[in-house]
Amino acid sequence: MIELEGLTKRYGEKTAVNNLTFSVRPGIVTGFLGPNGAGKSTTMRMMLGLDNPSAGSARIDGKHYAQLKNPLRHIGALLDAKAMHGGRSAHNHLLCLAQSNGIPRSRVDEVLDTVGLTAVARKKAKGFSLGMGQRLGIAGALLGDPQILMFDEPVNGLDPEGIHWIRNLMKSLAAGGRTVFVSSHLMSEMALTADHLVVIGQGRLLADTSMADFIREN
Ligand code: ADP
Ligand code: ADP
Repeated sequence: MIELEGLTKRYGEKTAVNNLTFSVRPGIVTGFLGPNGAGKSTTMRMMLGLDNPSAGSARIDGKHYAQLKNPLRHIGALLDAKAMHGGRSAHNHLLCLAQSNGIPRSRVDEVLDTVGLTAVARKKAKGFSLGMGQRLGIAGALLGDPQILMFDEPVNGLDPEGIHWIRNLMKSLAAGGRTVFVSSHLMSEMALTADHLVVIGQGRLLADTSMADFIREN
């Protein structure tokens, strides 16, 4: 469960995220829709403790991210396709992540298999294509077997096969009872994946509604 209450972020004069209050439920895919610059990434970064709110709060399973004992066991996120993995192999990258987060190393091979990277696991992640880098990021998000998964614009720049794979993954995670929160600036993308929509514009909440109701009313 994700709960935002009055979440706000100001950069000088600019209010990037303006008093957002909503929660994200388990068992469905919740889409986070808004044009570029609406405040989606800033909101997600605050949920992960990567940015400090100017006001309000974001809670993960009732706690601030920084208060979670084993954060990766609660929430996994794919934030940025350009994430750096240094000169390490995919396997090594995940192993380090597992070790520093108290996750059993057996999970590494499991998640590599889930994302379809087993065959290239010993290759340097630096040489990966965008789609493979995306899969590695998702492997990291799944590593702690968290109940909450968050994806920031996950299909951007991917080929049709990669897009199809990510959509299906998000749906099956939700079908398994997990909380799935995914951002996009495209309604057409949301319509294909999300059961529920949170819409923002210029940092403000514009809608928090089921996909069916949103389509009926817009
Ligand atoms: P989205 O993810 O919806 O495209 P962002 O959260 O990236 O939107 O950005 C929201 C607004 O906040 C934009 O106007 C952006 O320029 C501004 N912004 C984001 N990060 C910073 C920052 N570090 N300093 C100043 N302004 C920022
Ligand atoms: P570092 O600079 O040490 O690599 P990051 O800036 O990547 O750290 O992350 C800072 C915090 O955000 C850490 O507490 C980390 O656990 C958390 N974090 C980073 N990426 C993720 C993710 N994909 N899922 C969940 N939490 C994350």
